[in-house]
Amino acid sequence: MKAFTYERADTPAAAAQAVAARPGAKFIAGGTNLLDLMKLQIEEPVHLVDVNRLKLDRIEPTDTGGLRIGALVRNTDLAADARVRRDYGVLTRAIVAGASGQLRNKATTAGNLLQRTRCPYFYDTNQPCNKRKPGSGCAAIGGYSRQLGIIGTSDACIATYPGDMAVAMRLLDASVETVQPSGTTRSIPIADFHRLWGDTPHIETALQPGELITAVALPKPLGGTHIYHKVRDRASYAYALVSVAAVIQPDGTGRAAIGGIAPKPWRTPEADAAMPQGAKAVASRLLAGARPTADNAFKVPLVERTLAGVMAQAKSRSAA
Ligand SMILES: Cc1cc2nc3c(=O)[nH]c(=O)nc-3n(C[C@H](O)[C@H](O)[C@H](O)COP(=O)(O)OP(=O)(O)OC[C@H]3O[C@@H](n4cnc5c(N)ncnc54)[C@H](O)[C@@H]3O)c2cc1C
Ligand code: SF4
Repeated sequence: MKAFTYERADTPAAAAQAVAARPGAKFIAGGTNLLDLMKLQIEEPVHLVDVNRLKLDRIEPTDTGGLRIGALVRNTDLAADARVRRDYGVLTRAIVAGASGQLRNKATTAGNLLQRTRCPYFYDTNQPCNKRKPGSGCAAIGGYSRQLGIIGTSDACIATYPGDMAVAMRLLDASVETVQPSGTTRSIPIADFHRLWGDTPHIETALQPGELITAVALPKPLGGTHIYHKVRDRASYAYALVSVAAVIQPDGTGRAAIGGIAPKPWRTPEADAAMPQGAKAVASRLLAGARPTADNAFKVPLVERTLAGVMAQAKSRSAA
């Protein structure tokens, strides 16, 4: 690990200013992703601004009937919150499908959204990787790509966004609230928060330098049956090959978001509109324009099959 300096911030504005003031500085929250990357010298921040003392650890009702989740709410606390379990069950299910109990006790809402890809070549500093070192090339293209993306990828990068929680948040139309170093606040729809890789896979989100996430707001509850189904190589401690988050109403209408296939949680209005027509129609709309590799072409039928299983489960639950 490279040497770095460290400070604790007491207010969100001070934290944002501290990171903006030092090129190469980063926030640290739970540290469960950042510290691993620092040990491998994939991330080399010169200065860390610890945000754990900021009072951003509450879950509160919003004026519009939703919930505001502070950036520092731990994954365990968010998943266990009675209001989240009752009204946003898909979010609880997505969180507990990820990592392990110990990690979820430490991991924060903001840090989870910003976790970096699990592409094996991103972690191997002997390999070219446009995300780790812009312009160096992409070892995954033509390499081993079983875990990697099938849609929304580019000629520069075919990695996926690996997280689970964000797939549920995309389904729920959450908004990411931030403060910039100038003190300006803004709210970013989660659909626009994670970027497609394009020619600049090292730029992963809509955040500006020094911009601090303060909260994630959920709109009012959708009702319906909430399901998160994660298909992975091991029953625990593994990232999704494909995951489906869905909210399905008794009349068969609903929405679905897919994880493990793209640079961001993947959802389209055309696919949502096709929910009453069944899994095949939804999958064909979600995956229009997909560019799988020979290694990961299995994800195309896996999306449809996972959707079919989720829809059948929703039907039997709403009939019960
Ligand atoms: C072994 C292992 C297995 C895992 N399995 C899964 C899994 O199956 N599914 C899953 O979804 N995740 C999984 N994870 C990832 C885990 O969920 C993340 O490491 C965790 O959520 C990151 O949160 P953190 O608070 O520790 O972030 P940190 O490591 O502290 O920070 C991550 C990034 O967010 C930035 N950041 C933190 N807070 C803010 C803020 N308020 N504003 C702006 N930037 C901020 C940091 O600068 C850093 O770039 C796994 C992790 C490990 C180590
Ligand atoms: S797919 Fe992306 S993260 Fe993986 S090696 Fe290529 S550029 Fe790097």
